[in-house]
Amino acid sequence: MRELAEGVFQLSGFPRNAINIYLVDDVLIDAGTRQAERRIFKQIAGRQVSLHALTHAHPDHQGCSHVVCERLGIPLWCGADDVPAVETPGGVFNPKAPGWLNRAEQRWWTGPPHPVAKALREGDEVAGFTVLDVPGHSRGHVAFWRESDRVLILGDVINNVNVLTGRPGLNEPPAMFTPDPARNRASARRLAALRPALACFGHGAPLRDPDMLADFVSGLPA
Ligand SMILES: [Zn+2]
Repeated sequence: MRELAEGVFQLSGFPRNAINIYLVDDVLIDAGTRQAERRIFKQIAGRQVSLHALTHAHPDHQGCSHVVCERLGIPLWCGADDVPAVETPGGVFNPKAPGWLNRAEQRWWTGPPHPVAKALREGDEVAGFTVLDVPGHSRGHVAFWRESDRVLILGDVINNVNVLTGRPGLNEPPAMFTPDPARNRASARRLAALRPALACFGHGAPLRDPDMLADFVSGLPA
């Protein structure tokens, strides 16, 4: 893993930057798909991990949440409106995606349900970051913001890769995986307005260019 900012590490992965997992001090943020188990445990070996938090309850972020929390004996936190999805069997799925895709995700990606120890709300604190409610891509999507050095961990509100083609660059998350695209756009504008010095995405390379982020959201439909 590599350190992007003080105490903020991005786990390595293959393909690089495809599905991102971060270790922020002793908090693991997101947990990839169910296939990420070796990747995670190999890289966090020997490090203190006391808490696991999610940006949102989608199969490519909560896949290893259960196994990580069980094996390390640590609590799971996520956005309040994503708690039902995380805790309910079959709760993690994309209502707009075709059935075959949901079945494939269930088979290879989606992790089992897990109890949420704390429902995160706007203004809560996680590892020195402030929780921001940024719904749209999921009902309870949250971002983590550290004002002191302007570091933002924003999950899938904006992707820095086209997740369907693998081509790098800023994109809205696909409508197929986004229950409320208009609401997600409002969340994207809110985050870009923070002018993060470093933006850490759920998908795509980290970005140290607040102007590029601002330009991107200004081009989104109203
Ligand atoms: Zn994702």
